[in-house]
Amino acid sequence: MIRNHFRVLVVDLGTGRGSFVSLEGRDAVAGGSGLAATLFAKYGRADKPWDDPAQPLIFTIGPLTGYFPLMSKTVCAFKSPYHDQYAESHAGGRSALALRFADLDGLVITGRAERPSCVVVGSRRLEVKEIHYLWGMDLQVTGKTLRRMFPGGGHRSIFRIGPAGEQGSAMACINVDTNRHFGRLGAGAVMGAKHLKGIVILGDGIFPLPGTKEYPKLFQEVYRKLTDTDMMDKYHNLGTPINVAVLNGIRALPVRNLQQTSDDALDGITGERFADDTLLRHMACAGCPVGCIHVGFVREKFMEPNQYLYRQVPYDHEPIFAVGSMLGMMDAFKVLALIDAVDKQGLDVMSAGVALAWATEALEKGILSENETLVPLKFGDEPTYRQAMQHLATGANEFYRLLGQGTMKAAAYYGGTEFACVLGQEMAGYATGEVFFVSQALGFRHSHLDSSGYSYDQKHTEKNVSDAVEFLVRDERERVFLTSMVACLFARGVYSEAVLADCLRSVGYTTLAESIAAVSNSIQKLRWKTRLATGFDPRAVTIPKRFTEITTWKGKIDEGYLGALKEEYARRILEMGKDEM
Ligand code: SF4
Repeated sequence: MIRNHFRVLVVDLGTGRGSFVSLEGRDAVAGGSGLAATLFAKYGRADKPWDDPAQPLIFTIGPLTGYFPLMSKTVCAFKSPYHDQYAESHAGGRSALALRFADLDGLVITGRAERPSCVVVGSRRLEVKEIHYLWGMDLQVTGKTLRRMFPGGGHRSIFRIGPAGEQGSAMACINVDTNRHFGRLGAGAVMGAKHLKGIVILGDGIFPLPGTKEYPKLFQEVYRKLTDTDMMDKYHNLGTPINVAVLNGIRALPVRNLQQTSDDALDGITGERFADDTLLRHMACAGCPVGCIHVGFVREKFMEPNQYLYRQVPYDHEPIFAVGSMLGMMDAFKVLALIDAVDKQGLDVMSAGVALAWATEALEKGILSENETLVPLKFGDEPTYRQAMQHLATGANEFYRLLGQGTMKAAAYYGGTEFACVLGQEMAGYATGEVFFVSQALGFRHSHLDSSGYSYDQKHTEKNVSDAVEFLVRDERERVFLTSMVACLFARGVYSEAVLADCLRSVGYTTLAESIAAVSNSIQKLRWKTRLATGFDPRAVTIPKRFTEITTWKGKIDEGYLGALKEEYARRILEMGKDEM
């Protein structure tokens, strides 16, 4: 029933052909993050730039996808246009289950299509179809057209890019099934460089469930914990936007390009406000009974006197912070309108919001002029930001093209590096303190989800460098096994190591179940080794001055502590990535 090898489809866009590859290593790298790094070692080229046609775009799922709830993510791995290093981005939707039904553990896309195309993959189907007429179209038009061209809702998953990916923005995302994204580090530009507008996964096969007595019992137990206890309640109820008011209350929410860490006007964009005024419904990734995706709406007048259309817009804490508090936008509907505008262009909302926050302050300070920004950026001015988002996505002039490669690149050219809110990439929505800043700046994905540094900051007032760094390394190690299972990280409280071992055993992965700690350790090292091989130097990472100027509920940021954490974490990363495997 289960197989110990990985079944991977490798597609060459240059020839339009593909082949199935059988790869050993299930007991060593599990799947997801571990499999992605293994595939990059096999197909990636550390010595060539990110947009070289030979570079692979990799998608992987895990051994429990389809067998247990919330094993619902797909790992996307690539050489990033943001820093030309190995990177990972994760997304849910129907992606993972569609790959499972298509009987694939991994999909690797290499080469460059001669003309704009999409790849269609099913359990017995591979097609590279030319779709030049969709090049230049936004995500909404592209999605609508691809859905019509390839019917099969439910088991079908569609990945697509917008204008930002086509023009090579390092902030371009890959949209997954409309409401989910491979958001960060520019995976959308990798598709663009390959002339790949869309990927359609047709989950048109079947797979048998384990016939053991243990499996249904265990499934019930896990399902019950997810639905009948309060372990996941916060994610369904207000969802991650609950953090907006909490962080504002403890002076840890980035506001107006992190010039403030709280604001009295935040009432207009709290999770409670979004739920009361804008929430239409909840949605869930396939195979998830929790449903943390909150969907609000925007209304648009398309004709006088009273003709409106409305669109459904998903919201979370991160987008609310990025185009809400960070841009001084304190109205829930205006925030939704901006999320909608950014999403349409195929830009990552977090990166775009933080980039424009920097540009707004730079304009205020006279470092930039309207010659560069084209519009008079002003905190709180939603219509102007809407135009700016379009300029950013389409690379309207030299300034926006450079900004699209990363805020720090633009700041290095125009000035204003000291207030660029960049921690490896544009910051996430937590100004909790030193441990989080270091964890994002040096973390593997430069993501708030690499480890819970933000939570460590909130629980610890003592300043013990080795304890804090040990926490970051240990937490990342646990998470890397979860992401190799492709578990949604919101379920980390449910999927303890013991539960994961039982789940693996129940479907037949006994050896892997017995060696979770050792496998986690070796995947963590493998990922760092891969990252370092593509040029990452953790000792060279700098943290801009703005992060040392803020005050949280714990007081002023301690620069000495921040520096010591950075040095020790860099040392540990170099140790983990040593070439000794
Ligand atoms: S909890 Fe949310 S993100 Fe996680 S699998 Fe469920 S719907 Fe998707």
